[in-house]
Amino acid sequence: MSGRIFKCPKCGNEDRRKIQEKDDNSQRPLYFSMQGSPVYPKKLHCGACGYEWPKNG
Ligand SMILES: [Zn+2]
Repeated sequence: MSGRIFKCPKCGNEDRRKIQEKDDNSQRPLYFSMQGSPVYPKKLHCGACGYEWPKNG
């Protein structure tokens, strides 16, 4: 992957190792894969402050 920067909107943390990408399975699935498993939108989780926010764009 390219060096995309994720930044926590709450605490300003930019340490990629402390920002995890997760499936946001509290939301409706975007679509279902060919195996029939739901594909959820991604969210990002800040390991520094615990804040989570949707990964948009
Ligand atoms: Zn944070």
